[in-house]
Amino acid sequence: MWIIYKEFSFEAAHQLPHHEGKCRRLHGHSFRGRVYVASDRLKTTGSETGMVMDFSVLKAHLDPLVKNYLDHYYLNESLGLESPTSEAIAAWIFAKLEEAGVPGLHSVEVLETCTSAARYFSPRLSTFL
Ligand SMILES: [Zn+2]
Repeated sequence: MWIIYKEFSFEAAHQLPHHEGKCRRLHGHSFRGRVYVASDRLKTTGSETGMVMDFSVLKAHLDPLVKNYLDHYYLNESLGLESPTSEAIAAWIFAKLEEAGVPGLHSVEVLETCTSAARYFSPRLSTFL
C-alpha cells in the first residue's frame, strides 16, 4: 500500500461564532494543507508508470479550489460554512475533490498553525493507515 500527498497553502480569514475564546473574533491564518491519495498498486503504463498518481494531477485539482475559494477569502462566506473550523475546511476540500473524482482520495489535512491541524478521512476507509 502506498500513500502520497501534495501540499498546498493559503492565507485566509475566518471567525468561529460558537467559540468562547479569541477565535470568535474575525482573524486570519496562514493555512497549510495536504491532500493524501492511497493505492495498493502503482501505474504500469504511460507517464505515471511506477507512481500512485502524478503529483501535478493533484496540483491541478487543488489550484482552482485555492484560487476561487480559499486564498485571501473570508472562509465563512466563500465556503458557505457558519463555523469554518480546520475540521470543517478539511471536510469541505475533501468533498470538492471527491466530487471532482480524484481516484484513491484518502484524506485531507488542514493546518491552522504550525502545531494544530485537523485531518478528514473518507468514511469509506476501514483503516486510517
Ligand atoms: Zn482561526
